[in-house]
Amino acid sequence: MTNVKFASGTLCNLVSMTKEVACAQCGFRVRADSDDELVEDFQQHNKAFHNMDLSREQILAKAKTVQVATA
Ligand SMILES: [Zn+2]
Repeated sequence: MTNVKFASGTLCNLVSMTKEVACAQCGFRVRADSDDELVEDFQQHNKAFHNMDLSREQILAKAKTVQVATA
């Protein structure tokens, strides 16, 4: 039996986790490293383009975490 070990820390140098939320109305995507930034940017978009007010909870519920290559 072969015992394969994965070095779990090595990928962290190449890939960073970021959050992304897509607008249901027009497909516009916002990406940000922090929840605060994501919420603020997405709120601005919805206000400006769709005249909608979204709560922080609504936005974070739709947000997903994505991996982005930093290289
Ligand atoms: Zn939109």
